[in-house]
Amino acid sequence: MQKIRVRFAPSPTGSLHIGGVRTALYNYLLAKKLGGTFIVRIEDTDQSRFVPGAEEYIFNSLRWLGLEEDESPLKGGPFAPYRQSERMSIYSAHVDLLLNKGLAYYAFDSTEDLDAARAAQLDGSWQYNAATRHEMRNSLSMSVSEVETLLANGTPYVVRLKVPKNEEIRFHDEVRSWVMVHSSTLDDKVLLKSDGMPTYHLANVVDDHLMEISHVIRGEEWLPSAPTHVLLYRAFGWEATMPQFAHLPLLLKPVGDGKLSKRDGEALGFPVFPLSWMDESRNVEIPGFREKGYLPEALLNFLAFLGWNPGTEQELFSMDELVQAFSLERIGKSGTRFDIQKANWFNHHYLQQKSDDWFKEGIEDVLGLPVPAETLSKWVALVKERCTFPNDVYEMISNLTHFNGEVDQILLKEKWHADASAGLEVFLGSIDSIGSWTAVEIKLAFTTAVEGAGFKSGKLLLPLRIAITGKGAGPDLMLFMELVGRNECAIRLRNALRRFPELI
Ligand code: GLU
Repeated sequence: MQKIRVRFAPSPTGSLHIGGVRTALYNYLLAKKLGGTFIVRIEDTDQSRFVPGAEEYIFNSLRWLGLEEDESPLKGGPFAPYRQSERMSIYSAHVDLLLNKGLAYYAFDSTEDLDAARAAQLDGSWQYNAATRHEMRNSLSMSVSEVETLLANGTPYVVRLKVPKNEEIRFHDEVRSWVMVHSSTLDDKVLLKSDGMPTYHLANVVDDHLMEISHVIRGEEWLPSAPTHVLLYRAFGWEATMPQFAHLPLLLKPVGDGKLSKRDGEALGFPVFPLSWMDESRNVEIPGFREKGYLPEALLNFLAFLGWNPGTEQELFSMDELVQAFSLERIGKSGTRFDIQKANWFNHHYLQQKSDDWFKEGIEDVLGLPVPAETLSKWVALVKERCTFPNDVYEMISNLTHFNGEVDQILLKEKWHADASAGLEVFLGSIDSIGSWTAVEIKLAFTTAVEGAGFKSGKLLLPLRIAITGKGAGPDLMLFMELVGRNECAIRLRNALRRFPELI
């Protein structure tokens, strides 16, 4: 049986876009599902785009999400090194193989030569290919001795793939089914650049072959490169063991047309990076999903559904369940819209699963005192259900506890009716005699006191809430009163009764 080996092959050219994280996740899921190996290979051959810290960022992101790889530059493995910049001799040896077979050739064209050729073709469709290569300066159009002299003189050159003239390139994609391209539409891609570095195409194909990759799962933006890759597998004689391809659908903007971009996130106020990223060029730190308070399990569940579905109504999946349910067959073809509301929905769900203890430190920070377990669970119960992010929990508690008596005038004018002052005065008078200061007792004492004085307790609840919290809505009022304490409630009530009537 075929060994399942998949790879996530990011280039360390900046922060990792959320689409890249989805690619990593799908690779991981397939590997785990089929008992395979998940490899992380760093594709860092483009020195001009190399960004320091980007590789570390990639691994930190994977660690945060729990997408642990089996082989990588950090973990090592049987096919080390896993950083392309450390595999240079492998690529040059493979270029030599193609040169020797006559399936690749040297090209000495200068930038000006290429510009001139492009400019001569007015419709902009010029390509370096079977129709044009004989007019250019390369080892196919020049004599052997000319080429030898140029090489001996150290003339800069690139090596290009000699794309066959009339070939049909047909390959199967797990997502898009059969893809067919005619070789006349492809250009003779550069394999080795003039600085001696391999291009993405060469290094990617050589490594996928040598690392015995069984499935190439990557974003749809790489689909146009796949025919060239198929030709490379053919040229090397590796077509029989070529990996299976699966090109993942594009992630689309929340509204309008086009691909989700980093700019959409900034414009619409949602993250597109897993972790915060320092944009050196603008000197701004862009917060990631983590910093915005998204939980890893929520982000994973959200990303899993951006392009895949289980074929059932179930939406909430733990990592283990995702592994069980995942299959390439259920990846959709059409682009998926990035809907941050859905991410929030998942986050809300996973926040509810957190234990009381998980919130302990944050709540104690807000309250400024140690909170015993029983009280802690009451605080959590008070607010959690209304919260999407951990910070909502702390902010809500902070707002409730730090209420300074300032209220919205309009709210007051609308809701502080004639009976409010008189009725709450009665309740205030009874506060000291409430036996045990618990939500149940408070509620009972409140109802008994105000109803006894001829008021409707239901009508006084909203004014009581405004007096105690300053807000027209919020979490369970009686439980909050219990938590904030008898004294504080008396102070707030007294303050309200003194000030509110003057404000309306
Ligand atoms: N290095 C490419 C990237 O940055 C990898 C594409 C592929 O998976 O083949 O996405």
